[in-house]
Amino acid sequence: DETQLSEQLLLNYKPEFEQRYLRRLSIIAELKTALDDQQDELSLFYQPKLDLISGKVTKVEALIRWNNAILGFVSPDDFISVAEQAGFIGKITDWVINQAIKDAVTLRDAGMDVSIAINLSAKDVMDNALLPHITSLMSASELDSKALSFEMTESDLVREPEKAIQQLRAFRERGFELAIDDFGTGYSSMSYLKSLPVTTLKVDKSFVLKLDSQQGDQKIVRTVIDLAHSFGLNVVAEGIESQATLQLLQNWGCELAQGYYMCKPLPFADFIQWHNKHQSTNWLEK
Ligand code: C2E
Ligand code: MG
Ligand code: MG
Ligand code: MG
Repeated sequence: DETQLSEQLLLNYKPEFEQRYLRRLSIIAELKTALDDQQDELSLFYQPKLDLISGKVTKVEALIRWNNAILGFVSPDDFISVAEQAGFIGKITDWVINQAIKDAVTLRDAGMDVSIAINLSAKDVMDNALLPHITSLMSASELDSKALSFEMTESDLVREPEKAIQQLRAFRERGFELAIDDFGTGYSSMSYLKSLPVTTLKVDKSFVLKLDSQQGDQKIVRTVIDLAHSFGLNVVAEGIESQATLQLLQNWGCELAQGYYMCKPLPFADFIQWHNKHQSTNWLEK
């Protein structure tokens, strides 16, 4: 009962808990204000994905950034999960989708054939209103479904597997590509993977960051690439930090590569400049 619970809490009390709790509370308060106000604390950064077959950048991932007057720069790893738990991730996702669609229009009007990947949380995937909202915004801007794609983690989806499969199928029917993000860190079974209507597996960066020197990671990544291909899926590797890692991934038939070696996430205007500058960069032979 309640008395037992509070006794337990007191027994386990550590000063760090208070710090963490207070930080979470201020993240909630500040983020809600940021979303309701001018929203100029939030921005989208873009990180290119290199197509390892053509050698061109054909895709880019949108990554949210938040700079708050009191909290300073807060990493999405810190505030996204807080927003999910506090029940307003949908507001963030709406903001991200609006901004990404504006940027997708700019890319199209500049004649740049680059598709933007958006990260979704499980709550977004389960929200029946999201897909109609996205498609109506896109048709108002006359954007093709190829202009956007979506990434979500497997552990997010296993809570309500049947519903998740149904929701993702609706995205596929609208022509959107879908990726399982951070693949290898979750715990979904092979049979679940088989039933997920996705197009792409995204190998988690923890297996890629030191790929050029770690035999164990090499075995894992080769296995994931083969697994994905046997299911008819594409593979994206994230966290490429060296030419050697990029080369290994290309040798093993990985389709796309994303990482600091090519480019860190950049503000939108900087991404466009970077893209123009690297039109004819040959990343694969150095
Ligand atoms: P993610 O979707 O797995 O994104 C990849 C993360 O790896 C990004 O971190 C990116 O900056 C980082 N990264 C890429 N290449 C390298 C590399 O070579 N080395 C290293 N060390 N890191 C690399 P970021 O931007 O801090 O985002 C963290 C996570 O926050 C994302 O992981 C995603 O789960 C979440 N997130 C970011 N933006 C959004 C968003 O708009 N909506 C939602 N729901 N989640 C988001
Ligand atoms: Mg992602
Ligand atoms: Mg990832
Ligand atoms: Mg991640």
